[in-house]
Parts: sequence; structure tokens; C-alpha cells
Amino acid sequence: MKSYIQILGCATPDTTPSVIVHFDTRAPQRYLFNCGEGTQRVCLENKVRLPKLQNIFTTRVVWETLGGLPGMLLSMADAGIPNARILGGENLTHFLVATRSFIVRSTMSVETLEFPEDGMEFKDDNLAIKAVLLCPESLHQSIKYDNDSSSSTAEISLPQKRSHDSASLEHSEQQKSSSLEYKKKVLSLMFNQSQRQNTGQQPKKRRREEEAVFEIPSKEETITIGETAATSSSTNINSEKSLSDQRRELFSQRLPKARKSSTSVAYICKGPDYKGKFNPQAAKALGLPPGPLYARLVNGTSVTAPDGSIVHPHQVLSGARGGFIFIIVDIPSVDYIPSLIANRDLSPHQTSEEEMEPGVVIHMLGNGVLEDERYRTWMKKFGENTQHIIANEEYCPQRLIFNYAGKSQYKLSKLDPTHFRIPFYSNEPLKDFKEDDRNVDKRRFHPVPDLPQKFATSAPLLVYDMEPKPKLDATQIPPLFDLQDPQSPVIKSVNYLREYLAIAQQLREEFDTNKMPPTNIPGHDVTVTTLGTGSSAPSKYRNDVGEGTYGTLIRLFGPLSRKSYDGMMTLEECIKGLKCIFISHLHADHHLGTMRILTKWNELNKGNPDSRLSIVAPGRLLKWLDEYNDIEYFGFPRMQFIDNREILPNRRSYNNKKVENLKTDLGLKDITSVEVIHCPSAYGISLQHLNGWKLVYSGDTRPCDNLIRVGKNATLLIHEATFENDLIEDALGKRHCTTSEAVKVSERMNAQSTLFTHFSQRYPKVPVFTDAHNRIGISFDLMQFRLGEFYKLPKYVKALKVLYGEECEEAREDSAEDMLFVSK
Ligand SMILES: [Zn+2]
Ligand SMILES: [Zn+2]
Repeated sequence: MKSYIQILGCATPDTTPSVIVHFDTRAPQRYLFNCGEGTQRVCLENKVRLPKLQNIFTTRVVWETLGGLPGMLLSMADAGIPNARILGGENLTHFLVATRSFIVRSTMSVETLEFPEDGMEFKDDNLAIKAVLLCPESLHQSIKYDNDSSSSTAEISLPQKRSHDSASLEHSEQQKSSSLEYKKKVLSLMFNQSQRQNTGQQPKKRRREEEAVFEIPSKEETITIGETAATSSSTNINSEKSLSDQRRELFSQRLPKARKSSTSVAYICKGPDYKGKFNPQAAKALGLPPGPLYARLVNGTSVTAPDGSIVHPHQVLSGARGGFIFIIVDIPSVDYIPSLIANRDLSPHQTSEEEMEPGVVIHMLGNGVLEDERYRTWMKKFGENTQHIIANEEYCPQRLIFNYAGKSQYKLSKLDPTHFRIPFYSNEPLKDFKEDDRNVDKRRFHPVPDLPQKFATSAPLLVYDMEPKPKLDATQIPPLFDLQDPQSPVIKSVNYLREYLAIAQQLREEFDTNKMPPTNIPGHDVTVTTLGTGSSAPSKYRNDVGEGTYGTLIRLFGPLSRKSYDGMMTLEECIKGLKCIFISHLHADHHLGTMRILTKWNELNKGNPDSRLSIVAPGRLLKWLDEYNDIEYFGFPRMQFIDNREILPNRRSYNNKKVENLKTDLGLKDITSVEVIHCPSAYGISLQHLNGWKLVYSGDTRPCDNLIRVGKNATLLIHEATFENDLIEDALGKRHCTTSEAVKVSERMNAQSTLFTHFSQRYPKVPVFTDAHNRIGISFDLMQFRLGEFYKLPKYVKALKVLYGEECEEAREDSAEDMLFVSK
């Protein structure tokens, strides 16, 4: 029997703290605690498989801890997992159900369990878990602050007839429970096992994009003002109606309003009691014949010997003891400390008594908590044998988590480090709490007195073994990505690429000597950065433009605290100055990173009431933002929402104030969206700047005449090229383009330059090129260039062919779902 606790996410740019508990026992299971953005990708990177994952616990219901959950559920469903259960505090169901217009599966059911205020106990074959609820001290203050919508630029236009204020708040407990029941019904329609075959086989796998985001008719108009979904008479679920009818009926209505909750859940977990080692001699001496009686004793049952005497398990088992205890606490700010200290479920474990003493306590801490003396006093109350593991962004190094991508990035940087950025990383923490024999930079050294003896900072894949022998195990932590060390495997492997390095050198010299011409083209100084260039789901090499986008920005610009260097924009400037987010369609790979970006934008623009951020997106995204705003404040009233339909070529109203605002903000002459050929409500976009340059983005689509018409003579076309030419069937079926189709679109549009993106997971690094084309470039995550430098990109293709030509075949890998969830 083996069971262990493993750190996954780690308070770094790409991941927030998460923990997975493995039981490889007679009832094998995985238990995940928190699922922030990037959790799946960490597992993928490190080959952590999750075939037995069924229960996902969450410490808080906020994007920070749950941003990776929608994507995780899609992958679980697509891998054939029949059911999943999500457990956590208030609003958990609301969180999930608010995503119903883009997260839907008919092969897996999902159930939520929201803990009541007095906590809850949960038990299965492996774990007995007590959930303990903690509240911040300044609760009232924080609610007032949360609802602060002092911005004068608030410009919300809901497609619904009723304003979102009129939806009733859940006043009484009764209302609350009926609204929860209603939301659970909606959840049962989102995730529904109806299309699962009962053949005992796994359902035919569906790609993430296959279960199309379906069109929900606008039924809002028929709901009278003030009526909320829960009170509307038409919401009774009629079992005779088809699933899609029921979905259509319930999904279009706004969810009953929820109140924000700042609860943090702590988990006290206890593994199965260790029954001890069976001693056959002792059993024999007590007169028992070998056989079934032995098995019953091992299972903890007393038996009667042939001579009539009763034999108890403890008489024949030695070394029996209580199960392993571990505790997970999430203390986002010092405001939670009083509630933690006062808690009477946790305090009995602050002891050295064997039956109660936890083997390990995992502390997920906000900044400033470890420095608070009250917190350290609380920590020290645990017994001396308790191991403490701290996850905090200041005390944990911001090491690179996605090493495959980092390595690939480093190779590309040999072409030009300003176009192919090496991701930001730091192998030393911002703050060091102990001065050891290394040369600790004094500025970083923050002595923290009174730490417990057994104290460690968290690291990805750090393991704590529970059974058979409790111990901390750091052997699985991946090696550091370290470009300072000339002996590091990354540097060594690149030094072997002689042919590639020679071509790279040649190209650099060529670009250096013939300062190539078109520096005066319109928009020559406009910088384009590709953050995500993969399709469908994150892969080891290419992230997508959804989940993880904020983390990618940190890898590009460095952390918020970083000052400008070599003339580059800082992260703060980038987010603060953000004016517009365009979302082409609602497939998860295209927008799940939005929430974290909005939250940061709002934080950074707090003292800046005139700033405005426009979101141009399919209308249904607004519903999600509006409903999500119920549970977490991200500056919703400050966002200006423009439905893609408002800027279609023929439906544009010329007095649209919001569109005029946006044009002013971006210096645009024109902004036009076009319907493209992919899924319902899928759009491409064309921007024309006053300075004469024109940018066109295809979104996901088959070759599209509308786009060609609107995009004529684009300065830059960014076009999807999902599949290689011989996969035309896939391209047709999934409504994407092959490389050569995308080339034709570019030619017909007469685009001056074209950048290909959205590559299928089957080609993790670069697409297999068949057409060399002097106006076409290939995108990579973190690639950055000015329009005046675009001419270099087609020339890089030669080098890329050498770099990836041979690797391409071997780099073909299993899909994310197969890697993570299918047991081998
Ligand atoms: Zn896509
Ligand atoms: Zn798509």
C-alpha cells in the first residue's frame, strides 16, 4: 500500500498552489485540492497521471484557486471519466453553472457539494476529511469594498431586458437553498451522462471542440422584469423533454443572484488506520487454523476459535496505529488569522499525541501572513514531528515550471532574443527567511524568527509519503531551468545543434548588415506578441490563448515588481494600458484566461477612474461576466462590453457610442467583425488604424470569403493553420484550415504579411511545412516583433526546418486527455 501527498501548483506565475493526494491502494484514488489555471499543464509536463481523479476540493471559490477547473472537467469528460464531484464553500455551484454557455458535456456527470457554515465531514475508503470554514476579520469592510463601483465610466448594457440589479438577492436561508437546488439542476444539464454508451466501453472520445458551443435562442425578452429564473414558472424540469430542449430552456435565463463569500476552507484529512502486521504464530498459538478466520482478523473483526474462545484483532496484529493525518490551510491575508486561531477543530491537532498529531501541514499563504507573529505562534503549537510546507509567492522561487517550453524558447532565442524571448524565471526567492551558507543577497534576506523545526518551502512535485513510511521526498522535483549554469542540460543540448546555430548566426549577420528596407511601412513600429499559439488544450510546447494567459504575460515581462529594462514595456504598463480584449468565439481555449487579466487590470487601474477596457466578444460572454461578478469582484462595472454583432459589416449602427469610444481609445479608423465558419457565434476581426495599417485576425475558421472581403490588403493577417495538409478531413470536420488553405486565404486577401497560429496539438513544436512562402511567418508562444521587422520571420523558416525537422516525428505525442486520465 502506498499513499502520498504531492505538490502540483506552487505560487508561481503559471500556477497557484494545488495539491494532489495519491492512494494506490485496493481502492485507488486521486484527490485534488485546488485547480487554478495551469494545473493540467503541470501534470502534463511532469507526467502526473490522474486516471482515478473523482474528487476535487477547493479552499476558496475564486478564480485564483479554480480557474483551471472548467478546462479540467472538459478533459476529464473527454477522457471518458464517468463522474466527478467538486467540494468547497458557498457559490461553488454558481461558479460552475455560470460557465454553462461554453462548458457542456454529455458523457460525464458532475456533482457539487457546498459546505454549510459549521463545516462538514466526508468519508470514503481512503480518507476521512473534515472541512473547516474560516472567515476574515474585516468581513464587513471587504463587502463594502467589493461592491465599490465608483467608476463613472461604467457602461453596462445587458442584452436582457431587465437590469442585473433587479434580480433578487438571496435573502433568506430558504431562498438560498432553493436557488442552490435550481443551480444544481442546471449543472445536471450541463454535465449529463445521457450520451454515454452502456457497452462497458469508454465513450468515443470527443475533442474539446467537437461538442459545439450551441446556439441558445434569446429567450430573455420573454422574461418579465424582476422575474428571476428560480421563480419563473417555466423552469420546472420536465423529464420528458429532450436534454437539448431542457438546456435551451434553462440556460438562457439569468441565474439567481448570489452573495459574495470570503470563506476559506481548511481541510483536516485522515487516512485509513494502519491495522498492523499479522502474526500467524500468535494466531496459531491462540488455536486458530489458517484460513478465512485470519482474513477476518486482518479486516478488524473478532473471531471465535474452534475451542469457543474469542480472539480479537489486536492479539494477532502488531504495530497497529491510527491513520496518517494531514492538514491544508489557505490563509489569503492576515484578516483570516483570528478565525484560524480560534478554530476548535484545528486546535486538538496541535499536539504531540500520536493519534492526533498531523504528519504534515500545507500552508497556502498570502503575502504578509508568515511575517505575522500570531501566525507563527499558531504554527509552533503543532508537535515537533509535524512537517510544515509553505506555498507563498515571495518565499518560493519563481522558477520555470514549463521546462519543455522554456527549452524550446531558449533554442529559438538563438535566432534573435528580442523576437523569441526567454521566459522570465528566478531560482531564488524574492525573500529568503534563513541565512544559510549560500551567499544570500542581503536585500533579499528576511529573517523570520520562530519557525518550526520541520519547515520547507513548496516546490513542484515535492512529495510527502504517508504510507508505508512517512517522509519528505524531494527526488521528484524537476531540475531547475538555469541558464546561468553552463553545465545545465538546456545549454548543453543547444550547443550540439551546430547546423542550426550556424544558420542562426548567418541570419543574424544578414539582418545586421542589410538593414532591410520596409521600416517606413505604416505601422512599422507596432509590436505584435503571440502569447498562445496552440489549439484546443494546452500542450507541453504551446500554450493556448485561454487558461494561463496572465502567467504567460509574467513570463514575458517579468513580475509586477519588475522595473523596465532594455527599453521593454513592464507588466504593469502592459496590463494597465490594456484597452481592448477581442474574443472570437467561446471555445474554452480562446477565453478562459480572461478573468485573471480583468482582475489584474481592475487592481492596477483602481486609482484611475477614467480608464476604460472594452471587451469585444460573443454576447454570451457578457452573461458569464455578469453572473460571475455575483461571486467575485473583477471590475465588471468598469468594463465596456461590445457584442461582435454590433460591429458586423452590415449591422453596424453608426451612432454606437461604445464603438466610438473604442475607436478613440485605440486610434482606429474602423473596427469590423465578420462571421466566420466554425461554431455558432464565431467571429474574425479587422482593425484599421488612423495611421494606415490594417490588422486582421481570423479566429478559428474554415477558409472564409467574408474575412477575405473585409481583410483586403491587410498589413498583417493573423490566420489559424490548425492542420497539416494531409489532414483535410479533420479540418473539414472540425472546421479549421490546413496550412495550404490558409496560404490561399492570405493570397486572396492580398495580405502584405501573414502569421500562422493555432497549431494542432499533434504538432507540439512547429507545423510540418510544405509551402515556403516569403510573406508567411510561423508563430510561437512569447514571440514578439514589430511590423517593420516581419520580413525576418519567413526567413527563419529555413532554420526552423533544421531545428525541428527531425524532432517533429518523435515529438508527436498523446493528446492531453490520454496523457492525464487514461491509465496505462
Ligand atoms: Zn481554437
Ligand atoms: Zn474553436
